[in-house]
Amino acid sequence: MASDVAGWARRLVDERSRRVVFVAHCLLNQNVRYLGGASSRGMVREVIEPFERDGVGIYQMPCPEQAAWGGVMKRFIVRFYGSAGTVSYRIASLLFPLFRLYTAVRFRRLARRVVRDIADYIRSGVEVVAIVGVGDSPSCGVEHTLDMRRALPVVASFHASDVDRATFNERAVRACIVEGQGIFIAELRSSLRRRRLEVRFLEHMP
Ligand code: SF4
Repeated sequence: MASDVAGWARRLVDERSRRVVFVAHCLLNQNVRYLGGASSRGMVREVIEPFERDGVGIYQMPCPEQAAWGGVMKRFIVRFYGSAGTVSYRIASLLFPLFRLYTAVRFRRLARRVVRDIADYIRSGVEVVAIVGVGDSPSCGVEHTLDMRRALPVVASFHASDVDRATFNERAVRACIVEGQGIFIAELRSSLRRRRLEVRFLEHMP
């Protein structure tokens, strides 16, 4: 006998709000931020707490850079810090378009998985109130993003012995932010479009 999910859901009404927000992974867990980029010890309270107060469930999206760029430390990227003038830096610069392509393919897979879950929530009568990205990220920026072409030579010029967190953030991040969306957000949007789903995007600027 087929189970009547809607009937059961009506009968077993409980406390759930039927509202969920999809947030960038680091908004709940700053441990995946780039080195020097964590703004708090754990979650970003000013983003998370208003949703929590309103009874909105919080879905933590995967960190795309953790998945594709060498784990929590994003080792593929950190390798280029301080590498100016070396052969590996020259090779990396030449291979940048390939790296960009590899990133888009990896992020696309993740984005499709997230959008499958969005579709499942909507089909289940749960409102997806927003997707929240992060404005200084080449991956999760919604209205602003990091211009990696500009940032990579800057990080390559630093030396671990004489760069501090403030200088790093000023020169390699804030000075390289441009208008536009990150690669993961672009993949999320295109996957949503393919499924004809509309979800509002919000951006947290650290
Ligand atoms: S902004 Fe996105 S890519 Fe960057 S740490 Fe947060 S979740 Fe990961």
